[in-house]
Amino acid sequence: MHRASLLGQMGTYAGVDLGATNVRAVVGNSDGEILGVDRRSTPQGPSGIAVTEAVLDTLRGACAGAGVEPERVRAVGIGSIGPLDLAAGAVEDPVNIPAVDRIPLTGPVEKLVGGDVYLHNDTSAGVIGERFYADRNPDDMVYLTISSGIGAGVCVDGKVLSGWDGNAGEVGHQTVDPEGRLTCGCGTPGHWEAYCSGENIPRFTRHVHEQAGFETALAVESEGLRAAEVFAAAEEGDPLGEAVVERLGRWNTQGIANVVHAFAPLVIYVGGAVALHNPEQVLGPVRERLAERTMVNVPEVQLTTLGDDVVVKGALASAVTDGTGDRARAD
Ligand SMILES: [Zn+2]
Repeated sequence: MHRASLLGQMGTYAGVDLGATNVRAVVGNSDGEILGVDRRSTPQGPSGIAVTEAVLDTLRGACAGAGVEPERVRAVGIGSIGPLDLAAGAVEDPVNIPAVDRIPLTGPVEKLVGGDVYLHNDTSAGVIGERFYADRNPDDMVYLTISSGIGAGVCVDGKVLSGWDGNAGEVGHQTVDPEGRLTCGCGTPGHWEAYCSGENIPRFTRHVHEQAGFETALAVESEGLRAAEVFAAAEEGDPLGEAVVERLGRWNTQGIANVVHAFAPLVIYVGGAVALHNPEQVLGPVRERLAERTMVNVPEVQLTTLGDDVVVKGALASAVTDGTGDRARAD
C-alpha cells in the first residue's frame, strides 16, 4: 500500500519532549514507529508564550518531516519539565527556566492539531514509553531518571500515577539523610537529589573530601568540577573518586529501596545522563545491594532501552494509547 494511504488508514500521532534546554517532537504511527522528527533550543524567555511557540513550531516541523498536515494528527502526548498545573494544561514557574512564568501547552497544541492532548511530567512520559516499547509490558514498573535532578514515573496496577496536579513521582526529594548534611536545590536538607544528581555530585565530592580527606587528583575546590570527572577518576582508581562512587551507590540503593517499598514494581528502568553515561558505576552497586535493603520482591534494575529518546517516545506512546502506555489501547 502507498505510504500516504497507509498513514491515512492508521492515523498519525505526535509526541513532544519539552526540556529546559531542547524541545523535541516526533510524529509516528499507532505502532510507535517514528516518521518525522524536529528539534530546537528551548527559548529562555522573555515569556512562557515564546516557549509555547517553540513547541508549536517543533510540532509543525515534525509533521512536515512526516508529510502530514498538523490537523491530521489524532492525538499528541507531551512530556514536560515541571512543575505542571494539569487543570490549566500549563507549566507553572519552571525551576529550570527561571526567566519564564507560565507556559501554556494543552490549549495551544489542541488548537494546532484538533485532536486530544495528554500532558505529563517528563518522567511519567518515560514510564509510558518503557511500558509501550519494552518487550515485556508489565503493569507494575518504574522509570527513574538520574540526571541534573532525580525523579520517577510510576505505573502501579496498570495505571500511570499522576497525582491531582500532575506532580507525582518527585522521589528525588525524599529525605535519605536525616542529618541533612547537604541541602537540596529545593531548599530542604537531606534529599536524595542533594547527593546523587549530576548537578550535586561535585558538591557531594567536596563534602566527602572535607570529611575524610582522601587523596585525589581531582580539582576538588574548583567550581568547574563536573560529575563526569568524578566518575572518570573513580574508573582510574583515584581514592576520592572511588569513595564518592561507593557512597553514591549506597544513597542510590537507599532511594531505590524506598521506591520499591512504596510501589512494588517488577522492573525499574533507569535513564538520565548520569546513568546513561556511567551505567556500571551507577547501577552495579544498586544491583549488588538492593536485596539486603529490601523486604519485598526485589525488582530487576536495568538501563532504559530507549536511551535519550525515552521522553519523546513516551510522549508519542501516550498519544497512541490514550495517555496510558498500554499497548492494548492502541488501534
Ligand atoms: Zn529537594
